[in-house]
Amino acid sequence: MDLPEYIPINITTDNLPPNFENEIVESNDVITIRCNIKSMSDINEWVKEFGNRTDTKWNSRDSCPAGEKFVCWKKFVCHHSSFSKVPSMKNKKGISKNAECLASIKVKIKLDTTRTRMTDKFIGRGLVGVITITPIHKHSLMTAETLRFLPAEECREQFENYFNDGMGPAESAKYHKGVLEMNADLQPSDLANNRINPTQRTIEYWHEKWRLLNLGPRNGHGMIEKLKEKITTYRNRNVQVEFEENPFAVAIVTPIMKRSHCLPTSKEIIFVDSTSSCDAESHSVTFMLTPCAAGAVPVGIFITKGQTEGSYKQDFRLILNILKESAFCNEGGPATFITDDSDAEISALKKTWPQSQHFLCIFHVGQAVWRWLWDSKNGIPNNYRQQLMSHFQQIMYAETPACAEEAYLNAVGYVGSFIPTYPLWNEYLNKIWNRKEL
Ligand SMILES: [Zn+2]
Repeated sequence: MDLPEYIPINITTDNLPPNFENEIVESNDVITIRCNIKSMSDINEWVKEFGNRTDTKWNSRDSCPAGEKFVCWKKFVCHHSSFSKVPSMKNKKGISKNAECLASIKVKIKLDTTRTRMTDKFIGRGLVGVITITPIHKHSLMTAETLRFLPAEECREQFENYFNDGMGPAESAKYHKGVLEMNADLQPSDLANNRINPTQRTIEYWHEKWRLLNLGPRNGHGMIEKLKEKITTYRNRNVQVEFEENPFAVAIVTPIMKRSHCLPTSKEIIFVDSTSSCDAESHSVTFMLTPCAAGAVPVGIFITKGQTEGSYKQDFRLILNILKESAFCNEGGPATFITDDSDAEISALKKTWPQSQHFLCIFHVGQAVWRWLWDSKNGIPNNYRQQLMSHFQQIMYAETPACAEEAYLNAVGYVGSFIPTYPLWNEYLNKIWNRKEL
């Protein structure tokens, strides 16, 4: 870093904390201020406010809470000092804060006695505090590099409000910046100032702490405890949540889902769609939806740990528990389920609602086949993938079972006579064909 050796800062009355009475007595290499501070907490407040007003931060270095010849004293050093830091050359973790800065503040509160009043004219006026500042920093004060080290604690509450409003770390950072930019008085350097615009790392740290406190840990006993605690809160808002620990399953029914069970379509057709591996613990979120005039409405949401049949079965039992007779328009189950291609899910549905018919969702089947064709390990050359897909679609969209059979034979027969044979494809197609009833 190519910086001048010493950077003195000018201190004016504007830099001094307005909650106290200050008088600059001496202003040379060392600045002496007399002040009406009276206690250790006054000292801390004074130095903190002074830091805010001069874009500096001061760490406590040494103190004496009481003495015979004085009330107390405390010494602070600039947070870029070498005090309890490794030398910057040895810092492997990031930019070093250690600038070996020598700037310091010493504050001493003198005794107020008849004797001291005689020797020190300020004491009689109540200015018992003596603040000595060595204002020579060994680093710049207004560069982005220095400003990012300033403590951000003060806007933590603001960020916690963003988190409470449902924003994540990235979104809240963006929103906060937007709010700052709307302020006409914003200085470009303010955006680099950690006190005003905290770094992403700080925000992520706050979010992690906030999440632990409000949402609980992501797994284990703590998560279960938090869930138990929250269930009452949800219930007060008319949201019913039930869960089982083993196998882990959570079923959620919100007021709108409850209402959607009154729709006549809910006893006819239900779509089930899972999103797998939603987090590091591979929890999966499953939606059950029914069509209505507005598109599709959810009738229930489930969280399962992984995608196991046991976990799904547990969830389906829980939703029936919540809804009792009112489930699926008082029928207890729909006539038809349309699902994605998950064996565990289908099997659990069949066991819970044996009377219902089960179909695969065309979109998911098509998607699975398309993925299979593009999977390099199946060895289908690029130029044939589309052709094979269109054969498959002819089977899938066939209007009658007979047409489907014909399309299937055609698809199998086509390969070998017009395009090279891919045994893996025939095998795959055959496997799907054998499940065609689904
Ligand atoms: Zn400094």
